[in-house]
Amino acid sequence: MGSAAAYYLARRGKRVLGLERFDIPHSMGSSHGETRIIRLAYYEDPSYVMLLHRAYELWRALQSRAGERLLWTTGSVDAGPPDSWVFKGSLRSCLEHDLPHEVLTARDLKERFPGYGLPHETLGVFQPEGGFLLPERCIVSFVQSAHAEGAEIHGRETVLGWEPIGDGVRVTTDHGRYEADRLVVTGGAWNRKLLPFLRDFAIPERQVLAWLQPERPDDFTPERFPVFNLIVDEGRFYGFPVFGIPGFKFGKYHHFEERWDPDDLDREPRWDDEQVLRDFAARHFPTGYGPTMSLQVCLFTNSPDKHFIIDTHPHYPQVSFASACSGHGFKFASVIGEILADLAERGLTRHNIEFFRLDRLFGVRPEERRSRLPVGRLGPAPRRLARMWEHGRPDRAVRRRRGPDRSSGVGRRDGHGWADEEGAFLDDVSTVADEQAEAVRSFW
Ligand SMILES: Cc1cc2nc3c(=O)[nH]c(=O)nc-3n(C[C@H](O)[C@H](O)[C@H](O)COP(=O)(O)OP(=O)(O)OC[C@H]3O[C@@H](n4cnc5c(N)ncnc54)[C@H](O)[C@@H]3O)c2cc1C
Repeated sequence: MGSAAAYYLARRGKRVLGLERFDIPHSMGSSHGETRIIRLAYYEDPSYVMLLHRAYELWRALQSRAGERLLWTTGSVDAGPPDSWVFKGSLRSCLEHDLPHEVLTARDLKERFPGYGLPHETLGVFQPEGGFLLPERCIVSFVQSAHAEGAEIHGRETVLGWEPIGDGVRVTTDHGRYEADRLVVTGGAWNRKLLPFLRDFAIPERQVLAWLQPERPDDFTPERFPVFNLIVDEGRFYGFPVFGIPGFKFGKYHHFEERWDPDDLDREPRWDDEQVLRDFAARHFPTGYGPTMSLQVCLFTNSPDKHFIIDTHPHYPQVSFASACSGHGFKFASVIGEILADLAERGLTRHNIEFFRLDRLFGVRPEERRSRLPVGRLGPAPRRLARMWEHGRPDRAVRRRRGPDRSSGVGRRDGHGWADEEGAFLDDVSTVADEQAEAVRSFW
């Protein structure tokens, strides 16, 4: 996301400094492993499809600028039992957005794509524009294009902190200090360290990818093997044809659901990681089930509803940010770079990002949003949020009605009590979990 934002801002003639704590590219975050699925059919929610059209357009522009192929089209299959959200959601997005598609049974899939060996009751949506991106090459291409537009990018320089200064910001790194008019934060799994209000909304989770040498390599070429998203008894999986590494690649969404601090991550794949993945391949892609070629650990950064969080800082409009993962963000990196450039340049964007606003996680509906007004003139819900952010602990801003224990927390700034300007506890604030249930549409 960061390299894309740097490029689009530099292209608009802005003076850009990009800071990356590791190498460019690297395998410590969320964007490594040779391939990432891109697809137009979007079972997570049809409202992503408009952004995807733009994302495709921008990826194609980037690859023609870079002079190398970054986007491979294989078609995509979203499959599962007929009533599964993957199948139904994918079909819905195709119908709502008039996307070319075919509905295929397990037998149709096997005939067309012999690598697939799915349970007989499976139905799949085949969408011909699906495929994969080469994430490391996309990042390199964005950085090189940003360079060509005059941006300065530093690898191996860690941001230690930032602070607002008037309408601008000061950023402190392990190499020095910089002052700028705008700051764009795209720290992936480290976002919650750079933006503490994301602490409970951008949760890093350990993932593992496997590459197995196919028994029948011809079944797993990009020409004969569409990328897939699949729901089966064992969970939700995704996969790719052989590319870059001599193996058929796949992974399980939310693998063992292990939360990790990215600075302390167990990056060594374990026996049980491999086992769960090999068992899946043996059952559903039997001709792909050969020796393990590679295993890699990677990080998801999950939001509570698994949709992205893209917004400006609740108090400092000169700071914008994206936490766009939950296991499906890479394909959007091009368009999110454009959105971040818009937010940095103008504070608003041409794209509809209401779905991604931070305040939805607190139950604020779009019509309630007047959150760009200064604190004190906010409506009840945004004002409630502003207080939470100010105190820095949104997760503890839980139902504390005026009552006998009121005095125990008034004015405490240690994160255990929440007060508005008058020192009164906030009324009618439910737990985050309650609010999520009401406010956001989970796509689990
Ligand atoms: C196993 C796996 C499979 C996935 N599959 C898909 C897929 O098929 N399709 C898809 O669309 N998406 C997929 N995703 C999700 C997608 O890869 C992520 O949404 C995307 O890569 C997130 O990009 P990012 O820029 O937010 O994070 P990152 O790429 O991790 O970038 C964040 C950067 O910030 C840097 N940083 C952090 N803190 C600091 C600091 N203090 N100072 C300087 N630099 C800092 C980090 O080093 C890092 O380079 C997958 C993710 C994983 C882990």
